[in-house]
Amino acid sequence: MSNNLINLINVTKTFDNHIVLDELNLSVKENEFVTLLGPSGCGKSTTLGILGGFQQPDKGQVIFGGNDITNMPPNKRPLNTVFQKYALFTHMTIAENIAFGLKIKGKSKPYINDKIKYALKLVNLDGYENRMPNSLSGGQQQRIAIARAIVNEPKVLLLDEPLGALDLKLRQDMQYELIRLKNELGITFIYVTHDQEEALTMSDTIVVMNQGYIQQIGTPEDIYNEPQNAFVADFIGESN
Ligand code: ADP
Ligand code: MG
Repeated sequence: MSNNLINLINVTKTFDNHIVLDELNLSVKENEFVTLLGPSGCGKSTTLGILGGFQQPDKGQVIFGGNDITNMPPNKRPLNTVFQKYALFTHMTIAENIAFGLKIKGKSKPYINDKIKYALKLVNLDGYENRMPNSLSGGQQQRIAIARAIVNEPKVLLLDEPLGALDLKLRQDMQYELIRLKNELGITFIYVTHDQEEALTMSDTIVVMNQGYIQQIGTPEDIYNEPQNAFVADFIGESN
């Protein structure tokens, strides 16, 4: 446990008497790419929401670097979330979108401008500072959402089906870019998808979930070659 960056310990979450997560335990190491994989409604987004602090567990703890952050508000956490819908502010330029969080933190103008340049370069959108979000493609907007998260220097990026709205070619490009960012920046990724192939392609570790329970945790090879039960075998098999 000591060399884990994040631990979820016995996390339980109930909505309207319906148990959505039941005593969930999960560990994530620094610079690991962990994917939560499972069908719609299995509890992936709820798990991510609890990690990001947008939701509170009924029971259990969120540990980060050995500290209990269960009750820490989202904006104080060393984790940054990118949601499925890119949710850029449509009335602001790309630069203003990226600068938004940094301004709130009171960073200086030169610092912010440097960060904007750096982040746009990282996501291969140099020179897009003055563009408006709706003049960009869906894939470009999603890159901006990622750039906006990265300027806050998060240790961990939480991504909830970030590529779901993109067509296949863009999705593959973005998968490649996310892996590059993980390697270049040493960021830890916790990634949510219901897409088996995406999980198998990108992950160091896959967490297969169903109905609030973890069915199997393993490398893509483990999960693909040695599914531990019928659910995992069927779910992974659906991608073929
Ligand atoms: P996933 O992201 O895997 O599709 P979710 O974590 O969004 O699943 O949801 C898990 C279950 O919790 C679903 O049955 C969903 O309907 C329920 N749920 C999620 N959020 C709420 C909420 N705010 N109120 C009531 N039920 C919810
Ligand atoms: Mg979801």
